[in-house]
Amino acid sequence: MDEKGLTSPMRILITAGSTREPIDPVRFLSNRSTGKMGYALAEAALVAGDEVILISGPVTLKAPEGVRLVSVETAQQMYDAVAREIANCDAAIFCAAVADYRPEVILPKKLKKSGDAMQLTLVRTPDILGSARGVFGFRGVLVGFAAETDDLEQNALDKLHRKGCDLLVANDVSRSDIGFGSDENEVRLFFSKGGHRTIAQASKDAIAAELLQEIHKLLQERLT
Ligand code: C5P
Repeated sequence: MDEKGLTSPMRILITAGSTREPIDPVRFLSNRSTGKMGYALAEAALVAGDEVILISGPVTLKAPEGVRLVSVETAQQMYDAVAREIANCDAAIFCAAVADYRPEVILPKKLKKSGDAMQLTLVRTPDILGSARGVFGFRGVLVGFAAETDDLEQNALDKLHRKGCDLLVANDVSRSDIGFGSDENEVRLFFSKGGHRTIAQASKDAIAAELLQEIHKLLQERLT
């Protein structure tokens, strides 16, 4: 381990950004994620000398030079990309804000307006992080994110255990000064081995660097 607490290089998979779930050829369902946190983590990992596979939904950010970028659009495409790439990774960070539901059918032609109301039937998308252990058989360090507006601690602990994570990174998206679209973040870390800590409000780059040290530490603990 070096003086920054980083272990030897690891191969790390990061999901980032939102997903887009098409309704018809011109419309989709999505969310406010810009990918800033995931891209900052990819950059921090590169600086640490790690090999990075960045599986990204549509964003306006430029991928850091040196990452292997896999661009996807839908939750299903992100699931398929993770299924292909995760096997030989030492750590996987699921930072993407994946749509939980998608339209049941994708209309081949642009939907015309008719009447005052319309209904769209939505069906669940695959839970990619929730598939990492049981479906993909991933044994490396698993990190999930939780964007919460209420009951942050309870929801974070629930996700930590339900999804088999080693570390769950939670942020309060009801605050406008941090989180979605903002350059800053403040996160709370919950560990499966017990314990939690806060990384105080800082730039997403600074948060990413600190998070990466925690992930390297978790990997080191596994190896010793
Ligand atoms: O359950 P929830 O969506 O709040 O969990 C958030 C975590 O799960 C994030 O790490 C997110 O990237 C991941 N996730 C996923 N696939 C989904 C939904 C969430 O990987 N379909």
